[in-house]
Amino acid sequence: MLFCGVCHSDIHQIKNEWDNTIYPCVPGHEVVGRVRRAGAAVTRHAVGDLVGVGCMIDSCRQCEPCLAGDENYCEGPNSWLATYNGPMIPASKAPGGKNTYARDNTFGGYSNVLVVQEDFALKIPANLRPEVAAPILCAGVTTYSPMKHWGVKQGDRVGIIGFGGLGDMAAKIALAMGAEVTLFTTTKEKLEEAGRLGATGVLESDSSALESLQGKFDFLLSTIPQKHDINPYIPLLKRDKTLCIVGALEPMEGVNNQAVAFHRRNVAGSLIGSLQETQEVLDFCARHDIGPDIELINVDQINEAVKRAIDGDVRFRSVINMASIGSVDAGATVEDAAIFVSA
Ligand SMILES: [Zn+2]
Ligand SMILES: [Zn+2]
Repeated sequence: MLFCGVCHSDIHQIKNEWDNTIYPCVPGHEVVGRVRRAGAAVTRHAVGDLVGVGCMIDSCRQCEPCLAGDENYCEGPNSWLATYNGPMIPASKAPGGKNTYARDNTFGGYSNVLVVQEDFALKIPANLRPEVAAPILCAGVTTYSPMKHWGVKQGDRVGIIGFGGLGDMAAKIALAMGAEVTLFTTTKEKLEEAGRLGATGVLESDSSALESLQGKFDFLLSTIPQKHDINPYIPLLKRDKTLCIVGALEPMEGVNNQAVAFHRRNVAGSLIGSLQETQEVLDFCARHDIGPDIELINVDQINEAVKRAIDGDVRFRSVINMASIGSVDAGATVEDAAIFVSA
């Protein structure tokens, strides 16, 4: 294992904020490493290949979404198998108490080793630095997938709500798609950073700015990682256009349906992305020479990195350099670091 990004989901999971954490919990689902060993039937990857693993390490492969290439919406009895914290639907909540993956927990990327089904390991393009590729495996695909699904294109006006790890990726991808991008942030210091990206920064508290933007947007993406009020943003959409929520995964404030119905607007959600979309966004970022802004940390700085992510103080993604794991685990060495693939 070479690098692992620190995603806000890791923090929700560590703190059991979704009320489903299985301890011991080893988070991390923005993983880049080299194949150390491959099972006999593996054909897609060879020992030594640079590969990435995102949020999923397996899915049922039989349900309608899986057969359509939407593994992230797997409707199998246990849904998809997450890189950490086990199946998305644990046996206790599955029909007949069944667990088709034959394991209750999985351990993620804050580690020196990971075992993954070969289809769930993505190829890291040669011109993408591995530490930069890591956050694309979750933050990148989580924002790319809805922009692709709702057809963001050249000349569209796109608003990104929240300017953290997801917002940074979302803005760069939307700009590379040819959109005109507005970034909504609570942090005054980030207005300038929005400008540096080639986007326009707007303070979320600036109600007169929001007023002047009514009916202007082709797509809005909310990347705020906890529940929040989306009502100030709905009027910003043009008729028939969509506001998609990707950051928050809990019950949200009520929606004023007058603002939705009067202009046939849509309020939607989206969850990570498929394997194909994950490969696509890696290739897209390599082609357009974009990637997340990262702060490389050693594994013993993780507690501080978590605190800074909660405070919104990271610019914009912490990535753990896994070579540093040797310094805290006497039993492991860099030579031990590996991704195993199986088929
Ligand atoms: Zn994530
Ligand atoms: Zn499935």
